[in-house]
Amino acid sequence: MTANQLPYQRILLKISGEGFARDGETGLDTELVKMLAEQLRSLTADGVQVACVIGGGNILRGTQSQSLGIGRATADYMGMLATVINGLALSDALESNGVPTRVMSAIDVRTVCEPFIRRRAIRHLEKGRVVVLVGGLGSPYFTTDTAAAQRAIELDCNALLKATKVDGVYDKDPHVHSDAVLLPELTFNEVINKQLRVMDQTAFTLCREHDMPLLVFDMNAKDGLAQAGRGLNIGTIIRN
Ligand code: UDP
Repeated sequence: MTANQLPYQRILLKISGEGFARDGETGLDTELVKMLAEQLRSLTADGVQVACVIGGGNILRGTQSQSLGIGRATADYMGMLATVINGLALSDALESNGVPTRVMSAIDVRTVCEPFIRRRAIRHLEKGRVVVLVGGLGSPYFTTDTAAAQRAIELDCNALLKATKVDGVYDKDPHVHSDAVLLPELTFNEVINKQLRVMDQTAFTLCREHDMPLLVFDMNAKDGLAQAGRGLNIGTIIRN
């Protein structure tokens, strides 16, 4: 299939830090990173333009500040730096797979990657490079989910794809209720009315207000990422 026949020409893929570590573990698992890179390779081979916003929760989250005895803003900056580490690992794995990439950061680490400049990012995408976006939004008290929503809108993406470890959004918590049902399609208003949790409130509101379709899918499903990027039937799609 060519990109023109696919529903998405340009996607923003949010990969949480948990995608870089084994279940229940912290740190970086390079085998997982290689698997992610392989799925991304197959997607870009179809001509889909891919920007990825990378999380850092496998290394550190700002919300751990109290237990670490570190001030919140500092811990948030540490979390942003964690996303740089993950992003560099993904970029390296992609390049080893023959996929050209550019890592762009919202915080200034210009000896290791480019600063984020919107028009330059779009140019990279048009040239078929996977743009790996690190450093979140560059400000403390935000999450990389919010960065993903903001960048999806700013980079004129057709959809925000949130890779998770659940296969979509359920009508109730599937860990608690055995009769919970996966909801393949929802509107943003339904998510609010049913009080379903999809992503943090700021990110959700941005998507809703700017009409950015949001697909929640399981990155561990076989070829989950490649399928989601091709707009195939997977996970839960939320739109207005
Ligand atoms: N972070 C931040 N501002 C941003 C993005 C991220 O301060 O714009 C910090 C925040 O502390 C966050 C950490 O970076 O906890 C790692 O990002 P996140 O928790 O979103 O990663 P994920 O949960 O996706 O692995």
